[in-house]
Amino acid sequence: MNELICLVVGGGYAGINAIQSIRQAFQKAGETRKIRIVLIDKEPYHLRKVLLFKPAAHQEEITIPFTRMFSDIQVIRGTVGRIEHDQKQARYRDGEGKEHTLAYDIAVVTVGSIVRRPKPDQGGIALTELKAAAAIRQQWQENMRQAAEATDPVEKQRLLTTVVAGAGISGIENSAELAWFMRQEAGALEIDPEMIKVYLINAQARLFPEGPLKVGRRLEHKLHNYGVTVLHEVKALQEKEGMVSLSSGEVIPAGLCVWTLGLLPNPALREMGLPLTADGQVIVDASYRVQGMPGMYSIGDCARIVDPATGRADTMTCKEGGAQASRLGAIVLADLNGRPAPQHKGYMDAYCFGLGGERGMVWTRQWGLDMIITGRLGWKIRQYTWDIASLLKQPHRKP
Ligand SMILES: Cc1cc2nc3c(=O)[nH]c(=O)nc-3n(C[C@H](O)[C@H](O)[C@H](O)COP(=O)(O)OP(=O)(O)OC[C@H]3O[C@@H](n4cnc5c(N)ncnc54)[C@H](O)[C@@H]3O)c2cc1C
Repeated sequence: MNELICLVVGGGYAGINAIQSIRQAFQKAGETRKIRIVLIDKEPYHLRKVLLFKPAAHQEEITIPFTRMFSDIQVIRGTVGRIEHDQKQARYRDGEGKEHTLAYDIAVVTVGSIVRRPKPDQGGIALTELKAAAAIRQQWQENMRQAAEATDPVEKQRLLTTVVAGAGISGIENSAELAWFMRQEAGALEIDPEMIKVYLINAQARLFPEGPLKVGRRLEHKLHNYGVTVLHEVKALQEKEGMVSLSSGEVIPAGLCVWTLGLLPNPALREMGLPLTADGQVIVDASYRVQGMPGMYSIGDCARIVDPATGRADTMTCKEGGAQASRLGAIVLADLNGRPAPQHKGYMDAYCFGLGGERGMVWTRQWGLDMIITGRLGWKIRQYTWDIASLLKQPHRKP
């Protein structure tokens, strides 16, 4: 039988949705050729990365083992290095550092991004991975235990103050969730919840520059009600010995400083031998084909994907990666059969924010109208988007 091996490198949001989309495209088309999908990831699980702010605030599982997610594909735990496309093989290292090669017919590279880190002398903890989230949780909980016993009011206030530096979606959600859980804990420790102070440090003039001014203002108002103070047009410079210094000259005494500084394309791409932009993203055409490498595709945070109709590039979000993935199955099949393939279309304007304690906010623009949904319904929609991104619910997307 004519069997094709499709290698998917990376099981983040783009990778798992690509697997789903390729499998479905082959099943629906009644293809006589069989496709065997092999997923390689450096971890044994899919990390629900957008939820990293949750284990920073309270104990919560945000990984899904690949073996639970997929029963009919081969999963290999390994870190992919060089991809030798001329020989159609990828090199990877297993957990013991042993090198292997794996042959493929089609390859999809979805190795995503890494979280930008502050310099080592800037102190604080960057919300980069699970370990960092656990360290953040440990730190604020320890601060609160000490605050409950502190007799010096200045020191008590410092221990009950947290600074979140970087006010993108991650910073917004992180500050709201921390404020919610710190206040809950304050009740349990008989500390006045009004003493909990969370500062969100925003380098921009307003929150959410991706959307309309009124949405940024509404978000700020909600955050304020939930115990988060936003400081605009200022940068956090350094956390040292419990003091966070800002570019404005102000110094905030704080028990914890969390950095949420945004994303960079995965630096591992530089070793893979793929064509990259100056910023380090894979160069692909409008159907996600890697330049000069037939049979090789790349989507998600690691690829530079531009809408051919508008010239607008996708940003690094899981919703955009998911939409690219849902189109990929039809593209791969069209290429195999020598038919014209679908082309990229930009994702609709839509953003969701979790605001701690089962509260959320959703903004979307449809037919030129802004729609804002808040409260519990906003939260429910937020949860739904998290779940579809990780294949826990089935969306109805068109290629
Ligand atoms: C804290 C935080 C909050 C966020 N909040 C939001 C949000 O609210 N909304 C939103 O839309 N987006 C959000 N994002 C962005 C979103 O997480 C990314 O856009 C999304 O994860 C991109 O998916 P991806 O599959 O392209 O890459 P990733 O999720 O980065 O997945 C890459 C996968 O590749 C694997 N891998 C990496 N290198 C190798 C290698 N060499 N070999 C093998 N495997 C490898 C990794 O283990 C991982 O499984 C947030 C990101 C962070 C960090």
